[in-house]
Amino acid sequence: MNSMPPATNGKFRYRFAPSPTGFFHVGGARTALYNWALALKQDATFVLRIEDTDEARNKPEWTAGIIDALAWIGIGTGDPHFEGPYFQSQNSEEHVAAAHRLYEAGHAYYCDLTSEQIQERAKVNGKPGYDGFSRDRGLGPGPGHVLRFRVPEGVTVVDDLVRGRVEFDNGTIEDFVLLRGNGTPMFLLANVVDDILMSITHVVRAEEHLPNTPKQQLIWSALGYAPPVWAHVPVLVNEQRKKLSKRRDKVALEQYRDEGVIAPAMINYLMTLGWAPAGDAEIVPWEKIVNEFRLEDVNHSPAFFDEKKLASFNGDYLRMLTTEQFVTACSPWVTNDSVPWSRGDFDARIFSAIAPLVQTRVGYLSEVPSMVDFLFLDQPLIDADALAKAMKPEWASQLLRDVVGVFAACDWQHDVLKTELEKIGESHGVKLGKAQAPVRVAVTGRSVGPPLFESLELLGRDKTLARLKAILD
Ligand code: GLU
Repeated sequence: MNSMPPATNGKFRYRFAPSPTGFFHVGGARTALYNWALALKQDATFVLRIEDTDEARNKPEWTAGIIDALAWIGIGTGDPHFEGPYFQSQNSEEHVAAAHRLYEAGHAYYCDLTSEQIQERAKVNGKPGYDGFSRDRGLGPGPGHVLRFRVPEGVTVVDDLVRGRVEFDNGTIEDFVLLRGNGTPMFLLANVVDDILMSITHVVRAEEHLPNTPKQQLIWSALGYAPPVWAHVPVLVNEQRKKLSKRRDKVALEQYRDEGVIAPAMINYLMTLGWAPAGDAEIVPWEKIVNEFRLEDVNHSPAFFDEKKLASFNGDYLRMLTTEQFVTACSPWVTNDSVPWSRGDFDARIFSAIAPLVQTRVGYLSEVPSMVDFLFLDQPLIDADALAKAMKPEWASQLLRDVVGVFAACDWQHDVLKTELEKIGESHGVKLGKAQAPVRVAVTGRSVGPPLFESLELLGRDKTLARLKAILD
């Protein structure tokens, strides 16, 4: 290896290096987008490297899931800024060779202590961790011998674009392991060697890797390279300000996609976790984001991943669609196997007619079927609690009887239906808002939904009257 930074043709090289050990986490998606935005802004390269060396935890389907999820948020092949995917497991020989070079140059040494022996010594020393026992024992490679990095004295300064200058006293960093007793490389080493091999100039990643960074920076310089530009982006937390966790929180990007978050909303929302575009608006086009995004402006503190706010972003994005685009976006939700109506009863024309009214009210597309099911079901799915509540006032039954009488004969247009119900309400001394409640539950089965009178117009007189009578019976 040479002592010059790797040639990059003057172009910066970013990378995203996920480990395929589970569903693709929204935090990972945010990190990927930060890297992607910078690659586009600076006409740089975004390298996708799958860190698949933990054989026990990796599964090929997770890798496919990551590639698919990245493509969904606009990152992938087909764009000249994208390079990869590369697979870390294919570079094992390079990782081991780099470790041997470190050993030859005196930056690393072998150690044969077992973890029990290390713990024993730590007890005696009154200090946790490995105490450098084998530093000068001159051991060579052998079965069960790990290769450890010889951490020099001094201070390691990490210049981080997000965190600023972070100093680490090398005295607090133990001589960490580069190669395991079976000769396989550790993550810290593989990650650095790959970054060097791939001429990476900028490492933008999750904050949880900050404690690794002084060790990695020491490896970079021991191998003869200037370190990359570092940037550690803050973690995502839940409402209780706890780090988002797979076990507790909904963290899979795929899950949001499957609930009907659309990609532009997800991209915009993720970018604003820890960063904000100039001006008051948070909903901004991707081009503006790319133009304005700077790591220097990323917040240090943890960012709250707020599902409600995401739903509101998504709702705003859904409302920006034309009706036709919205109908197309809804299509997978209203034509799949889990809808409550029988397939043959779905009427695309009626759905297109109600779509603009649904479009103004929906957050996740997965909410759409329950907003329109009353139009395609023979009998609405009645929410018993909502019905009991709506029928509780003593005027409710008589009001429904009056409605049946009037609706049997009036013109079947939403504005007429509205005026008629308003009059009937008045005769019972209740305002339109209240008078609507029993009608809505009787006809749609629920207490909330798209605007009532337009819904009735679409449902038709016969079905509406039959449902009202069914409740009165
Ligand atoms: N493979 C690591 C992870 O998924 C990322 C390491 C890095 O970005 O340097 O957490």
